[in-house]
Amino acid sequence: MTDEILAAVRRFWGFESLRPLQAEAIRAGLDRRDSLVVMPTGGGKSLCYQVPPAVAARTDIVVSPLIALMKDQVDALRACGYPAAALHSGMDAAQLRQAEREIAAGRHHLIFVAPERMLTPRFLELAARLRVSAFAIDEAHCISHWGHDFRPEYRQLAELKTRFPNASVHGYTATATERVRRDIIEQLGLEDPTVLVGSFDRPNLLYRVIPKVRVEAQVADTLRRHRGKAAIVYCVARKDTEAMAGYLAEHGVRAAHYHAGMDAEERRRTQDRFAAEEIDVVVATVAFGMGIDRSDIRCVIHSAIPKSVEHYQQETGRAGRDGLPAECVLFYSAADVLRWQGLIERSAEDADNPPEVIDNGRQLLEEMRRFATVVRCRHAALSAYFGENYSKPNCGACDLCLGEVVGAADSTVLAQKVLSCVARVEQRFGVEHVVDVLTGAGNERVRRWRHDQLSTYGLLKAMPRKTVTNLIYQLVDAGMLERTAGDRPVLRLNAASWEVMRGKRAVTLLEAKKPKAERTAMEADTWRDVDEALFESLRGLRREIATERGVPAYVILHDSTLRELARHKPTTIEALRNLRGVGERKLADFGARLIEHIAAYERNKRQVSNEMLTGDSGN
Ligand code: ADP
Ligand code: ZN
Repeated sequence: MTDEILAAVRRFWGFESLRPLQAEAIRAGLDRRDSLVVMPTGGGKSLCYQVPPAVAARTDIVVSPLIALMKDQVDALRACGYPAAALHSGMDAAQLRQAEREIAAGRHHLIFVAPERMLTPRFLELAARLRVSAFAIDEAHCISHWGHDFRPEYRQLAELKTRFPNASVHGYTATATERVRRDIIEQLGLEDPTVLVGSFDRPNLLYRVIPKVRVEAQVADTLRRHRGKAAIVYCVARKDTEAMAGYLAEHGVRAAHYHAGMDAEERRRTQDRFAAEEIDVVVATVAFGMGIDRSDIRCVIHSAIPKSVEHYQQETGRAGRDGLPAECVLFYSAADVLRWQGLIERSAEDADNPPEVIDNGRQLLEEMRRFATVVRCRHAALSAYFGENYSKPNCGACDLCLGEVVGAADSTVLAQKVLSCVARVEQRFGVEHVVDVLTGAGNERVRRWRHDQLSTYGLLKAMPRKTVTNLIYQLVDAGMLERTAGDRPVLRLNAASWEVMRGKRAVTLLEAKKPKAERTAMEADTWRDVDEALFESLRGLRREIATERGVPAYVILHDSTLRELARHKPTTIEALRNLRGVGERKLADFGARLIEHIAAYERNKRQVSNEMLTGDSGN
């Protein structure tokens, strides 16, 4: 059986081996034993439900939450010569009938449907007629309201087990804490399931958390390290996405915004342009990304803290799905945490929201804040959150392990200045006012209270306001300063504050330091021996082929395969067959074109260097 699995994987996808847990998950599908498979984004879940029906020559059903996600998967499968179809509301009646006819004839191994269609009488009848014996539930955490992406329509899937008592049900998800996992099993009614939980760590992702000062400039700076490459910038509010995209566009970045307030047509256009590589950066609210399978995303930026570690993991997870290095930057400011807290409190006033869900929301946010503020290897911290041990002493892929996080040299003195200013204004003012006094602002309120007479007035006037604000919030985060709750919060001193002021306690405040621009060792490794100009030129060819076929570029070939091509420069079909990521269908469809492209590139390069040697410019 193992041989048959590997043969299928080689023929359709051109992969030589399975990844951890894929074999076990595929086996559960073939044995038709219920399963719950938890793997991080990019871990290779889809292969687990794609292989069994191909090996067993049957038709399975995949329930998937978004049309875009289904379409991408079907396109990608067809490019591999794997027969699959989707039924969704974006198709007209004739297309639906045509697809249903093909399905009824048993032509497809996989059918993708949305949960609400799954339980329509028409579809149930089709499934019964086909004697469907296995269902895969993609993004299975959507069934649980403890997760971060609850979708009421998923709840109906509980019926699958009663309607198809002989079929197996397989849940797949990237994000599941223990509680969500138990909930999925219970809701789907899985019977004695095989539970496979992969490692959550994504070693190819480089995590950085940087104090937020002037976020637009900071984002533009970060993107400069990924010029011409795909990136997503997440913002909290819709209007933020528009402002940020505008700023980036002015600074020469091919960017567009995306949020749930745009009409469907406009959103689709942005998504299509991103898929077609006409734009490099999408600035979005969390509404964006689930439908995006572009595997070559090199950078994910959070311009504000997300509201849970699950969100963070899911959103950063969209980077580097091809396994190549990618960077994830979070711009942290405590003010954003307070903004979220405000939103949570407001939603608590809505009677429809059960108090335990609100409490859960508060707790999730607190965990996220802790992740952003704790001084600990980010890979280790994320692993711990998902209940895993992380054993590497240095991950080589986070700001802390790369030695980029440094305390300001005079941290303790800075902290003393801030705290003594809070004492001087008699612990009766908020952050804004304390910043005004420290930076020596000459406004009316400062004068009215005669705070321009204080010894702490203008003590930090050499620093930008944003930096001073950030320092104050760092002290709050570290528990060395209190900020009262309520409508008009004020800063108060606590026991720890006094210890700092008396010099009994040292403080480390972080500076917004620019990451080193060079490639990390891990990145450099993946570029070793790669002809980078050829790689870029192959990207062009990939776009061309994708346009001809009306599919997104990443459906054609992955970046990792393009790099292999630009490294080994194969000259024969046989040599090409041995490269990872080129299956039989792709070899037949455009293998010759790839080889010709590489040969032409090499000829051209030789010619140019000859001309340079002979000084003949070709006139
Ligand atoms: P997930 O659904 O878990 O987010 P995918 O199924 O999209 O992940 O897989 C992520 C990437 O890994 C895809 O580009 C896929 O082609 C690749 N991949 C999956 N399995 C293997 C394998 N056994 N060998 C090489 N690449 C693989
Ligand atoms: Zn680390």
